[in-house]
Amino acid sequence: MGRKKKRRQKEEESEDFGAREFHCNHCNHQFEVKWEDIFMIQELTHGYVGFHINDTFISCPECDEIVEEEEF
Ligand SMILES: [Zn+2]
Repeated sequence: MGRKKKRRQKEEESEDFGAREFHCNHCNHQFEVKWEDIFMIQELTHGYVGFHINDTFISCPECDEIVEEEEF
């Protein structure tokens, strides 16, 4: 069996992932979404996760519109 990987504390883990900034074209609201949350959405949408936002539907917390952001 493989070696046991030491699990880091949750706080550090989320710090590693960080967040991504999104900008809503509808209401001009700028907000951050944690990568953890993006992964969760991706998993629900198409079953795979990664550091990309293609085909990932993030809705604006202000106006509830889907934010379409180009990858850059
Ligand atoms: Zn908005």
